[in-house]
Amino acid sequence: MKLCMIGTGYVGLVSGACFSDLGNKVICVDKDQNKINNLKKGIIPIYEPGLDEIVKRNFINKRLSFSSDLNNSIKKSDIIFICVGTPTKKRSSEADLSYVMNVAKSISKLIKTYKIIVTKSTVPVTTGDDIEKIISKKVSKKLFDVVSNPEFLREGDAIRDFMYPDRIVVGAMTNKAKKTLKNLYSPLISKGSKYLESSRRSAELIKYASNAFLATKITFINEISNLCEKINVDVEDISIGIGLDKRIGERFLRAGPAYGGSCFPKDTKAIVSTADKYKSNLSVIKSVIKSNEQRNFLLISKIKSILNNKINRKKITFLGVTFKANTDDMRDSPSLKLIPSLIKKGAFINYYDPTGEKEIFSKLKNVTFSSSIKEAIKFSDLIVIHTEWNEFKQLNLKKISNKKNYKIYDLRNLYSPVKMKKKKMSKCTRCVSICHQGAAIIKSIVQIREVFIKKVKCIFSMFYQ
Ligand code: NAD
Repeated sequence: MKLCMIGTGYVGLVSGACFSDLGNKVICVDKDQNKINNLKKGIIPIYEPGLDEIVKRNFINKRLSFSSDLNNSIKKSDIIFICVGTPTKKRSSEADLSYVMNVAKSISKLIKTYKIIVTKSTVPVTTGDDIEKIISKKVSKKLFDVVSNPEFLREGDAIRDFMYPDRIVVGAMTNKAKKTLKNLYSPLISKGSKYLESSRRSAELIKYASNAFLATKITFINEISNLCEKINVDVEDISIGIGLDKRIGERFLRAGPAYGGSCFPKDTKAIVSTADKYKSNLSVIKSVIKSNEQRNFLLISKIKSILNNKINRKKITFLGVTFKANTDDMRDSPSLKLIPSLIKKGAFINYYDPTGEKEIFSKLKNVTFSSSIKEAIKFSDLIVIHTEWNEFKQLNLKKISNKKNYKIYDLRNLYSPVKMKKKKMSKCTRCVSICHQGAAIIKSIVQIREVFIKKVKCIFSMFYQ
């Protein structure tokens, strides 16, 4: 089939590349000329494992092309996917639909033969109705269909998520559109992906309800981790214990920083706005949003207490600054709240991220970037493991810093605090203290005694070295 993706960002580029890999002819369109020029030269604008290869392969095979010419791209395509951003409005919590509506207006001026217009962007319920109204002002209803086909891919796992989705949701209102979309997705359906047909409004709401539910799961376990910290219980045990219940499921139950990224923060706010508009109270999601916002303050106070209430002039290293591993996306990353707040309190921040330096931090005083883990943690008083990149999972904690006493705040629970403490104490080279997010550092009275004895020995041997 001939497809056109309008908006060549995380969703448009990944789904466009994957559709072309499934044998379709795809044109990815963007208003950002620079992005299009770079893509034509093989320069991929985002960090997404496996994307580079799939784009190059299909570009060479001429199944995938890039353009900023909307007119020509629409003319050549049967199905037009809207993949532009839907950020939160500046002055309210609603989704800003201006990009989507601008695309709808542009399309309405260009349709000459039958087209299916599909929203892949996450849009509030009834947006499909509004797009239909806009287009029908200029084009006969016989010449187009508007379909909702929300995208569920996760950054960092986007190719796999697109090629092997848990489900594909399509909200089409005519048989012609239903048949065409099912045909388009048939290679994925035949590999076992579930295909759900629903009304257009249901499809739109399924996306928001999914994201709100996942955000709720994360917030739930984060709050449970706060309780765990108070009562010396390892939150990882709780995650496993409750996750084994099939009704709950183990995913999205890892305690850590506040949820961030380009979807959950904006989508939770947007669904609450939609519900408010229809005078329906989504009190659970409202609490989730509030709890998530408070989490950053809570983590700052935790960092303060780890540093014995002295943040001023302390050197703090952030390992990873993106909201999750395997992506370069900084949108709504918790580090954007944590780092500026620590600087205000007088800290010096040095950070390392596998996806490189971040422009947003280069503007901040007392924030520096290091191009290796080793450089980043030299002379650090506190190392904050902010993002769960694989390369942070096997650090040599004995040689990690030049400082004699330093601490590690393992926000992602990559290390077992009990094991690490035992290791350090027995070698007795340095006193490293690992602060595991939401976990008991010491599990029982016996362990407290053991660790205390080892700590005393450790201090003694340091004096006599
Ligand atoms: P993005 O910001 O990465 O990309 C959007 C692109 O659209 C940009 O390149 C921009 O230049 C382009 N654009 C804007 N207006 C345009 C126009 N009139 N013509 C041509 N191009 C235009 O956004 P994204 O992260 O890909 O998200 C797109 C949508 O998909 C959002 O609604 C988002 O909520 C949803 N979504 C995102 C993800 C994700 O992981 N990023 C996952 C699922 C769904």
